[in-house]
Amino acid sequence: MGPTLLSVRSASKRFGDVIALETIDLDIHEGEIIGLVGSNGAGKTTLLRLLSGVYRPTTGNVVLADGTQVEHARNRLGVVPENTGLYARLTAWENIRYHARIHGISDEEAWRRTMYFARHLDMADVLGRHTKGFSRGMRQKTALLRALVHAPSVLLLDEPTAGLDVTSARTVRELVRQLGEEGGTVIYSTHQLAEAQRVCNRIVIIHNGQVRADGTPQELLEQTQTHHLEEAYVALTTDVARPRQEDDKPLSKWSSWWRGLFTPKTPKEVGEDE
Ligand code: ATP
Repeated sequence: MGPTLLSVRSASKRFGDVIALETIDLDIHEGEIIGLVGSNGAGKTTLLRLLSGVYRPTTGNVVLADGTQVEHARNRLGVVPENTGLYARLTAWENIRYHARIHGISDEEAWRRTMYFARHLDMADVLGRHTKGFSRGMRQKTALLRALVHAPSVLLLDEPTAGLDVTSARTVRELVRQLGEEGGTVIYSTHQLAEAQRVCNRIVIIHNGQVRADGTPQELLEQTQTHHLEEAYVALTTDVARPRQEDDKPLSKWSSWWRGLFTPKTPKEVGEDE
């Protein structure tokens, strides 16, 4: 096991009455490819946001090995959020270069690193195109290039293969595996157990805001005395998954009308991911 890079210490996250994550303790070590697996609303995205310093925990903390709070060390992390967050009016390369410049990386260095990974992802020929017309797969891969350009110590990916075609999903998985073989550290959320088993050397099962299991695929099978990860997952999450908070209480007709009256119409957004 490599040295610890990132630690989650007794971290919880609440949104009003909703406890998105209960007390979580996790150490992330260099060279680990960690799959965060859980049902809808389990708390995966919230955990990734805590790990990337986007959210502050309600209690506890998330620190790097030298004790720095993660929110002060975001330049050491590469993040691909679920919605990619690309600027539609910029080309793929301009998106990446903008991000690289923020991190103090020279354009030459950024180009060199981008081309290295773009060849693996079959993106080298489209870097000069505006991302507006990009397919989901192309946006996902651009966001991945952007996250890698400043050579982060830890890569955090929120469902990186969701909605991708078979070939694109495979390319992304292969890149993650390759990063792992080169000693990189990746944490990524997925609903796909089979995918986590193929790519990850450690699986963390999140259920109802708690870590239900944490270990290698083999350890999870031994712990549950099962032969397939799917059976292990079911055994570890037998209690019903909680509904996502927004599905909790269906609004009455009167409440919906009242809410609609006071909800401003969302102006058409310009920019990200349009
Ligand atoms: P999915 O697989 O559907 O993306 P998830 O495992 O990523 O789900 P989270 O998005 O982390 O789950 O949500 C965990 C819980 O916290 C849910 O009940 C969700 O409704 C709630 N939650 C998450 N973000 C917020 C927020 N900004 N405000 C209020 N509640 C939130």
